[in-house]
Amino acid sequence: MQALVTSPGVPGSTRIEDLDAPRPEPDEVLLRVLEVGVCGTDREIDHGQFGIAPVDGAGLVLGHEALAVVERDAHGFTRGDLVTATVRRSCGHCLSCGEGAPDSCLTGDYLERGITRLDGFARELVAEDATQLVRVPPSLGRLGVLAEPTSICARAMRHARAIGGRQPWQLERALVLGSGAVGSLTTMLLRLQGVDVCVASLEERSPLVEALGATYVSTRSTDLGELGAFDLVVEAAGNAQLAVDALRLLRRSGVACLIGIDGRDQKVDLDGHVLSLDFVLGNRVVFGSVNAHRRDWQAAVESLDRARERWQDVLESFVSLRVPLDRFAEAFDHRGGKATLVLDP
Ligand code: BGC
Repeated sequence: MQALVTSPGVPGSTRIEDLDAPRPEPDEVLLRVLEVGVCGTDREIDHGQFGIAPVDGAGLVLGHEALAVVERDAHGFTRGDLVTATVRRSCGHCLSCGEGAPDSCLTGDYLERGITRLDGFARELVAEDATQLVRVPPSLGRLGVLAEPTSICARAMRHARAIGGRQPWQLERALVLGSGAVGSLTTMLLRLQGVDVCVASLEERSPLVEALGATYVSTRSTDLGELGAFDLVVEAAGNAQLAVDALRLLRRSGVACLIGIDGRDQKVDLDGHVLSLDFVLGNRVVFGSVNAHRRDWQAAVESLDRARERWQDVLESFVSLRVPLDRFAEAFDHRGGKATLVLDP
């Protein structure tokens, strides 16, 4: 069985290996993987900057954005059912994981498929714990590969609404920074909810976010200050300075949500008035969000299916490169849309 394996900490060590087919445990379901999406985290692991191999093995099977079919009937699933699976698994000893919310793990000892101490899905067959499976509606088809990144956005937006909603607040106008997969999928979720969205990113244009009914501005030609004020700002560009610059664009009671990651060693400039005057006197909040709860996965597949009814062509164009497993280097180098590795066409 072919698998995409890497040695975390060793740049450029990603390779195809022939592994034994898995034998499912009694609580597991055997899956045939159709495709896996590639994201910035996979690239960081490939560059040796992130990721931890399972304790018992030198290599880590990559891939955490899975779309698969059930290979053998088990646990209420039938051969041919379309599924995806959660990424993060319980640390086994914190309040949050104990309550079924490893997305909010309090210890950091969690496992993550294809990232942290747990092999991922970039292989032909995988045995998965039945309780971690999420059904993908057949109508969604191959678009189900977008479930994982959408679940990240769904969690972030659920938290933004909970935080904003702790006091009278209406989410009317949002600014999304970054037009990559996470920025675009967040825009999609907000547009589904009727929010007026402005997307700002480096590119000159983004026909994709415009097709979702959002306004697009290029940060090369437009100063963020010209955009007015927002109830919600979402930083999905992975730029710490940009995140801080956008804080001054919040309306009173506004919420800033950080989902982009910027691991560079750097200092960022923040006007003291913004933090210690505007944030206090205007009841503003900035928070970070990672991973997703099971309810966010559910919301993600439901939203994707609704979005498909409304913007089928737009959604299809989200995935701009599909290549077989052995062309993984092309997928890692791909920019300007989601790349996927196809294991079963
Ligand atoms: C994944 C998340 C994961 C995070 C940190 C992201 O790329 O989508 O599921 O929690 O990386 O490892």
